Amino acid sequence: MQRKDGTCYLCKKLYMGDWIQPTHEHHIMFGSADRKLSEHYGLKVYLCLGHHEMSKEAVHEDKEMNLILRRDAERAFIKKYSFEKWMEVFGKNYLDEYTPERRKYGYKSND
Ligand SMILES: [Zn+2]
Ligand SMILES: [Zn+2]
Repeated sequence: MQRKDGTCYLCKKLYMGDWIQPTHEHHIMFGSADRKLSEHYGLKVYLCLGHHEMSKEAVHEDKEMNLILRRDAERAFIKKYSFEKWMEVFGKNYLDEYTPERRKYGYKSND
């Protein structure tokens, strides 16, 4: 999802900050089995230490931050594979646009 270039995925996304800083590799679908799947499907990003685990905005501390990444990961995955495959692999939907009711009428991506 992101090339390793010394920038933080969340600093960039939230604050347009693209400065070079020390980063950690973060597996978005962390958790025992899912970590391997994250690696396999390339669902990982680079985060500054604050956004990784050392602040209130850290993905391992803050549910909202974690959700931002999981939604991006799900969208990227669906673009490449499909929603059905996402559910098959990870078993949990994070996107509002994929509620069962809406899926019945078909989904069109805007981006
Ligand atoms: Zn950051
Ligand atoms: Zn992590």
